[in-house]
Amino acid sequence: MNNNRFYSLNDYFKENFHEKIYKVSLDGGFTCPNRDGKVARGGCLFCSESGSGDFAGNKTKPINEQIEEQLELISGKFSQGKVIAYFQNFTNTYGDVEYLRKIFYEALNHPRVMGLAIGTRPDCLPEDVLDLLSEINEKYFLWVELGLQTIDEGVAKIINRGYKLKVYVDSALELKKRNIKVVTHLIIGLPEEGDRGTLEGAKLVNSVGSWGIKIHLLHILKNTPLAIYYKNKPFKVFEMNEYIDYVVDILEVLNPTVVIHRLTGDGKKEDLIEPLWSLNKRAVLNGIHKRLKERETYQGRISNG
Ligand code: SF4
Repeated sequence: MNNNRFYSLNDYFKENFHEKIYKVSLDGGFTCPNRDGKVARGGCLFCSESGSGDFAGNKTKPINEQIEEQLELISGKFSQGKVIAYFQNFTNTYGDVEYLRKIFYEALNHPRVMGLAIGTRPDCLPEDVLDLLSEINEKYFLWVELGLQTIDEGVAKIINRGYKLKVYVDSALELKKRNIKVVTHLIIGLPEEGDRGTLEGAKLVNSVGSWGIKIHLLHILKNTPLAIYYKNKPFKVFEMNEYIDYVVDILEVLNPTVVIHRLTGDGKKEDLIEPLWSLNKRAVLNGIHKRLKERETYQGRISNG
């Protein structure tokens, strides 16, 4: 644990690889069963047109070219080190296993790529895909991200998540059984989520042994079903101070070993309807550090082990 009072992804990289490692976001050209009709149509309530990956590469280009372009974008601050190839938008295991093999290895064969991060849904991990992930995991650094968002089945229905909580638990355990690292996404501020909903989600993250967590602030973005929902049925949007306190509460219950990948949200400025204060990401992160100090607390202070 550093003097930030929580265990960040940067801390993990420094501890295990002794260097800074960046991520480059790629678009593997996938869609999502929650959009194409296999599970549902329209997608999750909050999902943007790009499948919640607004800063990823251009899907019309080969993986190798996307990596080069993304490396160019970060070349000013990071010109030589290793990167993680992050398959971010839509559902990156929703496809034929041979196609997955092709694009994952294409990324891994780039000389600056040291591992993969793969974002997906827990209902898109059939046996052959799990076998491929196991194979990759034996040779490379890998984590798999699961978009849980909420543990409340009622809220999951409202956001049109399209799978039950048990599906997440089973998949997280399946991945863990294969020693594959899981990163769980939770969203703070979903409509109808009770006051402490995300806190309970964090406890589940502990108990399934999720390696990492991404805590998102709900962004209400233009051209999403959520924008229409919010217009017709306005709901409480967190103030910055409330959000900061809630994040600190969540950090306190998380196990100290859970790697913190994210503590707020990222959305395109021109698409954001609410909460507008979130555009000042620096202020939010500084506020979390400051509040941890003021409350003399830290990650894991009251975790359930
Ligand atoms: S599962 Fe992911 S990509 Fe699919 S609709 Fe939901 S947020 Fe979007």
